[in-house]
Amino acid sequence: MKPVGRNRKNKRKFRYGRLALIMVPVTGIVLTICFLACMLLGSSLDSKNSAKMASVQNSESTTLSSENSKTAYLTFDDGCSYHTEEILDILDQYGAKATFFVMNTPYNDKIREIASRGHTVALHTYSHDYQSIYDSEEAYMEDLNKISDLVYEQTGSRPDCVRFPGGSSNAISSFNQGIMTRLTKLLPEAGYQYFDWNVDSTDASGNGVPVEKLVSNATDGIGMQNPVILCHDTNEKTTTVDALPAILEAYKSSGYTFKGLTKDSFPAHHSVSN
Ligand code: ZN
Repeated sequence: MKPVGRNRKNKRKFRYGRLALIMVPVTGIVLTICFLACMLLGSSLDSKNSAKMASVQNSESTTLSSENSKTAYLTFDDGCSYHTEEILDILDQYGAKATFFVMNTPYNDKIREIASRGHTVALHTYSHDYQSIYDSEEAYMEDLNKISDLVYEQTGSRPDCVRFPGGSSNAISSFNQGIMTRLTKLLPEAGYQYFDWNVDSTDASGNGVPVEKLVSNATDGIGMQNPVILCHDTNEKTTTVDALPAILEAYKSSGYTFKGLTKDSFPAHHSVSN
């Protein structure tokens, strides 16, 4: 019986030995496959994580842009005027902030009040004389520095937001070929951001434009991500003042907040045609 037992043991040893001979390379191969699989899985997880990060970032930017989409920018050119005070009072009633692209007027003392009531004072022009400001880059910058000095005297700070008379797309300057192309490059280099608009109240189309028409045009931006609404603050634009409450009401009831422009706000740039 013993030899039989030994034989069995030997046979077992032989089987285990052969098994071990097979298992070692098999285990090696399996481990290698596992290693490679882990590497692949890892990189796939990395890419999944990257995708997840990107999606978080996207959702953050979506959240930001959806917040931005609820921000409207009311802008008033050519002030100050006899109406500035009343405009500021209406804005206060609606908890709204706006931007005033100012020029030299008999109401320069209102510039200080615009700033002290939390609105953005921005630069439009000193003279608003197309022929002289668009005569050359030097002439434009000289005029811009003059209005900047005036605002500085009134508020103690220099704006970095600018709006070209006529907007960057104006064709009035075509007497000086390419001036707007040159100025739109020059301003950012000089530390300014220029702003156009994507909603026009059309109050510059004449004096006494009917309130209903102004409200209808100015509220065309409801649904836009960043409506930048063009209005004017001059003595003649009485109906603009009359239209303001309805314009503010309409945007506010659609969930918009009115903010003043800053250098980083959406600039609503037009296509430069000169
Ligand atoms: Zn203007």
